Amino acid sequence: MHPPAGEPTAELLGGFSWAANGVGCTLPTYTVRAGTNLQLESLTELRRVRFRAFASLALEVDDGNAVAAVVADVTIPKLLRAFWKLPLENTAKEIFWRLALNAVPTGERMGDAAQPCLCGCGPSTRRHHFWDCPVSSAITADVERVLFHFSAPPATAARLLPANLWLASVPGWCRTVLDRGVWNVTCLAALKAMDIGRRALFRVNKAALQQGRQLPPDILRTIATQTARAAFRGGLIDFTTLAMYSDTWLARVGARGVRHPFLHVDAGAGLISVHLDGINN
Ligand SMILES: [Zn+2]
Repeated sequence: MHPPAGEPTAELLGGFSWAANGVGCTLPTYTVRAGTNLQLESLTELRRVRFRAFASLALEVDDGNAVAAVVADVTIPKLLRAFWKLPLENTAKEIFWRLALNAVPTGERMGDAAQPCLCGCGPSTRRHHFWDCPVSSAITADVERVLFHFSAPPATAARLLPANLWLASVPGWCRTVLDRGVWNVTCLAALKAMDIGRRALFRVNKAALQQGRQLPPDILRTIATQTARAAFRGGLIDFTTLAMYSDTWLARVGARGVRHPFLHVDAGAGLISVHLDGINN
């Protein structure tokens, strides 16, 4: 309830204001939206900084790179919205949020950048666990095999780049033939599989230590890689089993033909099925 204009109380209240990071509003102009924006301003700024670091890492460029800044401010928020709309359980989408916000508990994130990954091949960093680690490399290799079986890349693009998976950037040579929605689902399944592989390294090592055994890195790598590869397939199978996709999805993916990689429409059943031709084992 507002006191009558001109009353001393009204004049007093009119002098109240809130401010944060150079943004503010006075009591007479206060709205719930303005208050929420003020409250979230520091979080919004923190998120912007983290997205920029993630974009630089994904594009393999230095911090402050102009393209990375655009990717962080425009592409990543757009990608978050696209992922949010995918017909998947939210638990399948969470890994992208964590990765982009640097919320995966790596050694580097926990303040120990020199801490080695249990695979024995590099430091426990975001780049290592989601790209360089042999466990995650096996997932990238599976994605490449399926993709290359479908559409051979030019010699200049013989390997996928981090941005292809981390930013769901469709590889250039198959941009016109690969379904964007299927690629988004594939990237999320790959990233989640890499995270499951990372956690498998830790879990198996811990279980062995509790039994008084020290497993060598190559054994840990083998177990974690098998776990991760199964999780990648499982992520795609979950998409087809849950069948939360719309008729629009069915029509769109169906129009890509039965050779479409990762997910295609099974003409007999009239449903979307997993399609991993190119992976032999
Ligand atoms: Zn590793």
